[in-house]
Amino acid sequence: MKQFLIDKYNRKINYIRVSVTDRCDLKCIYCIPTDSERHSTRRALLRFEEIVRIIRCFANMGVRHVRITGGEPLVRKGIVSLIEQISHIDGIDDLAMTTNATLLSKYARDLKDAGLKRVNISLDTLKPEKFKLISRGGNLEDVLKGINAIIDAGLNPVNLNSVVIKGLNDSELLDLVNFSIKNNTNIRFIECMPVGHIGSLSRERFISAKEIKSLIEKYFTLEPAPSFGGGPASYFHIKGEKIKVGFISPITQHFCESCNRVRLTAEGILRLCLGQNAEIDLRDYIRSGIGDETLQEIIAKAVQNKPQSHQFSIEEGIPIEKPMSMIGG
Ligand code: SAM
Repeated sequence: MKQFLIDKYNRKINYIRVSVTDRCDLKCIYCIPTDSERHSTRRALLRFEEIVRIIRCFANMGVRHVRITGGEPLVRKGIVSLIEQISHIDGIDDLAMTTNATLLSKYARDLKDAGLKRVNISLDTLKPEKFKLISRGGNLEDVLKGINAIIDAGLNPVNLNSVVIKGLNDSELLDLVNFSIKNNTNIRFIECMPVGHIGSLSRERFISAKEIKSLIEKYFTLEPAPSFGGGPASYFHIKGEKIKVGFISPITQHFCESCNRVRLTAEGILRLCLGQNAEIDLRDYIRSGIGDETLQEIIAKAVQNKPQSHQFSIEEGIPIEKPMSMIGG
């Protein structure tokens, strides 16, 4: 009999986010520590055949959505071939990627041809100097070229993601929405989460999704829209425009009761909740020579114990110990 992934709170898991590297060509201040602050030593990455095998096991148990992330997924050598292999797994009908887009102008067409269905692109600012500051040295022009390339390749809808930080980019909300309208992309604004190394950024300069929404409503009329993509954002149509604006509020209004996802790190650790350190090492299991059936049993048992909810809040609670680049945000 087919085994589905259902945890002890009766949540069905149908979505896996797979990090393919913890390396990134950008070093965004809210995401990645400087090298001296790195939290763990590097273990060997999962090989492509191991990633494909794990995803196939998840697909056998009802997982339908896969998102490839990182670090920066496009810096992993051979990424197009991995996308192609995953797109051929029976049962996977939504294959997406989260990227900073710096390398997208090089890969957009090949990724589409390989079977990638959707892309989320991180874009926090439209000012080159600020981009350099946030990403510790990145070039905004590369990102804008990448966005154009993926739009030209016809991968729709493109979603932009902006992490909003007070005093850093909260003055650019109108510009970011106008950019999305001009390019016919959706845009989602994300509350900054308290990842281990960023402390004060997420506390003193925190801005809630509700505040972000009010700032946008000074300029646009927002009408509730149905959610899509199985994600945690609440969406709104902009009156008179085609695009949607989404708000993701992991801190002020968490969405744990409807969480449908788990994460696989680049080193083969299955992370059951973004905001809790509950993890199990699948790499050791698969390298010990077990078969798929046993692997599926191990995964199903681990998923049973998915934590009920994350614990982060601005004032108290357990922050995420690992940097987001290692978990695969
Ligand atoms: N390199 C890719 C990128 O930039 O989109 C993928 C990996 S990145 C870890 C994935 C997402 O996590 C990005 O949208 C990023 O903005 C988000 N992220 C990272 N740190 C975060 C934090 N402290 N709070 C909220 N979102 C964060």
